[in-house]
Amino acid sequence: MTPPRPLFINRLFEGLIDPFRPAQDAMPPDRLTRFYAHYLRQVRGPLLLLLVVGLLSALVDVALFDFLGRVVDWVGAASKSASGSSFFEAHGRMLWLMAFVTLIMRPVLTGLHDLLVHQTLTPGLATLVRWQNHRYVLKQGLAFFLNDFAGGIANRILQTGVALRDSAVSALDAIWHVLIYSVTSLVLFARADWRLTLPLIIWIVGYIAALVYFVPRVKHRATVASSSRGKLMGRIVDGYGNIGTLKLFAHNRFEEEYVREAMAEQTGQAQYAARMITGMGLVIAALNGILIAGTPGLALWLWSSGRMSAGVIALATGLAIRINNMSGWIMWVVNGIFENLGVVQDGIHTISRPRVVADAPDAQDLRVAHGGIRFEAVSFHYGRPSGVIDRLTLSIEPGEKIGLIGPSGAGKSTLVNILLRLYDLDGGRILIDGQDISGVRQESLRSQIGVVTQDTSLLHRSIRDNMRYGKPDASDEEIIHALRQAQADGFVSNLIDLQGRTGLDAHVGERGVKLSGGQRQRVAIARVLLKNAPILILDEATSALDSDAEAAIQENLETLMRGKTVIAIAHRLSTIARLDRLVVMDEGLIVETGTHAELVARNGLYARLWRHQSGGSIHDPNAPPPQDA
Ligand code: ATP
Repeated sequence: MTPPRPLFINRLFEGLIDPFRPAQDAMPPDRLTRFYAHYLRQVRGPLLLLLVVGLLSALVDVALFDFLGRVVDWVGAASKSASGSSFFEAHGRMLWLMAFVTLIMRPVLTGLHDLLVHQTLTPGLATLVRWQNHRYVLKQGLAFFLNDFAGGIANRILQTGVALRDSAVSALDAIWHVLIYSVTSLVLFARADWRLTLPLIIWIVGYIAALVYFVPRVKHRATVASSSRGKLMGRIVDGYGNIGTLKLFAHNRFEEEYVREAMAEQTGQAQYAARMITGMGLVIAALNGILIAGTPGLALWLWSSGRMSAGVIALATGLAIRINNMSGWIMWVVNGIFENLGVVQDGIHTISRPRVVADAPDAQDLRVAHGGIRFEAVSFHYGRPSGVIDRLTLSIEPGEKIGLIGPSGAGKSTLVNILLRLYDLDGGRILIDGQDISGVRQESLRSQIGVVTQDTSLLHRSIRDNMRYGKPDASDEEIIHALRQAQADGFVSNLIDLQGRTGLDAHVGERGVKLSGGQRQRVAIARVLLKNAPILILDEATSALDSDAEAAIQENLETLMRGKTVIAIAHRLSTIARLDRLVVMDEGLIVETGTHAELVARNGLYARLWRHQSGGSIHDPNAPPPQDA
C-alpha cells in the first residue's frame, strides 16, 4: 500500500538524503572509524544541521535555568522594595524575551531536531548504508555465499545499517547536547563562584573515567553478542529454507536442539554484555549522588556566608537535577552507541571483504564473434592445495557441440563453473574467442552464455520476472513464444497462486518450490531460449523431465543449439551421444575424447558407462547412429 502524500515540510526533510544516490562500487572500508566516515561523509549536510540545532537547543535550555536564577533574585529584590508594577517595568523586556524563547524558539528548535532525526536521518541513512552494502555483497564470488548462512548475511546487512545510523545520530545528538550543557553549566557556576564548579568537575571526570572503563568492554561483549545473533538467525533460516528435508526426515527434535543451542549461546552472550551495563549504572548513580548533594549544598553554604545570591541556589539546584536526569539517559545512549559499534564491527567482518572474484580495473566487455573456447592448463581446487581439476587443457571449436561425461564427482560441473568465472582459477587460463575471461567484465561474460542446470531454482517472483532474467526487455509475446518452445506454455497458463495471480503473473514460491522439478526445468530452458546467447551450457538440462517431455523439447533444443557452441553434461548418455564430440572426465582429468563410435570402439571408460546404461550391449538398438553428429 502506498502511504498518503506527505506534507511539504516532510517532503523537504525526507528529500535531504537520497539513499540510492550514485556511489562507488569499491569495498567499504574495513576499519571501524573509516567505515563510519565513509557513510557519514555522504550525509554531512543533514548531520551538520543537526549539530547546529543541537547547539542552539542546549544553549536555550541552559539559558532557561539561568533566567530562573535571575527571576529568583529579582523577586527577592522586589519584595524588599514592595512594588509589583515597578517589577514588570524593570524586567518586562527580559520576561517577554524569555516568553519568546520558551513559546516560539524552543518548539521550533525541537521541531527542526525531530524533522532532521526522524524524517531525514532515521530512514535515509539506514537505507543508504544497507543499499550500498547489499550492492557490494551481491557481487561477491559464489564461494562467499556458500561459506556462510544466507540468513546470517542478510541479518548483518540489515542490522549494520540501523546500528550505524543509531550510533552516529545518538553521538551527534545526545553527546553533543550534554557536552554543551556541561560546559555552559560550568561557565555559569564559575561566574557565581569558582568553588561551585567542584562537584560538577568531579562528576565530569568520574563520568568520563566510567565511560573509558566500561564502554570498550561493553563494545567487545556486544560484538560477540551480535555475532551469535547472526549465527542464530542463520540456523533458523537454514531450517525454514530446507523445511522439506526437515519434514522428510522427521528431524524436528534434532533441529530444535540445533537452534536451541544457538539461542542459549546468544542469550548467554547478551547476559554477559548486560552485566557490564548494570555495573556502569551503579557507578553513575553514585556519581550523581555527589553532584546532587554537593552542588546545592555548596550553593547553600556560599549563600549563607554571603558570597552569592539566593538566585544562584535555584540555578545550581535546577541544573544539578537536570544533569542528574540526563546522566541516566546518557548512559543508555552511550551504551547503545557502543552496542551498535559492536554490531557494526561484526557487520564489517562480513561486508568489507575483498571480492573474491572481482572485475579487473581495466576490464572490457567480452565480444563473442565465433564462440571458440579454450581451457589452457587449467587448475582449480576449491581453496584446497590440490585436487578437483589439475592442468586440464581442452579446445572447443566455434559452433562445436561437445558432451561432457564422467562419473559423479569427476569435475564436470566445476569445469562449467570456472568457465562462467564463478570462481577464479588456481592456474592456467580460459579463453573465449582469444580473450582471457579473467580480464573481461563478469556481467558481459555471463550475458554471452546461456545455462540450464540440473538444480534450477527460480526466484520467488512471477513467471514473467523469472523469464526476464533471460532478456530484461522481453515482451509478453516473446516470453510466451519461448515458453511454448520449451513445452511450458500449457502449465504456465493454468498457474494460479495463493493471491489469485495467474499465468505469467503467478509467483512460484521460494526457489520455485511451487512448481514440479520438470516444470521448473522447462521454465529454465525457456528462459535460456529467450536469452539466445552464443554459448550454451546444458548441465543435466533435461534430467528432471519424463521421456515424453524430453522428446518434445529435444527438437527445440536442437533448434536452440544451431550455430552455437555447446557444452552439454548428461548422465543419461543417449541424450548426448549424438553430439560432435564427447569428452570423458575422471577425477578432474580428461581421459578420453572422440565421437560416440570412436569411444565405443576404444573400449575404455565411456564404453563401460555406455554398456551399463544399455544393459550390457554395446550395440544398443536405441543407440543413435554415431555418424549423425
Ligand atoms: P555430478 O555428476 O555428480 O554432478 P560433477 O562431475 O559435476 O559431479 P563436481 O560437482 O564438479 O562434479 O565436483 C567435483 C569435485 O569438487 C567433487 O569432489 C566435489 O566434492 C568438489 N566440490 C564441488 N563443489 C564444491 C564446493 N563448492 N566446495 C568445495 N568442493 C566442491
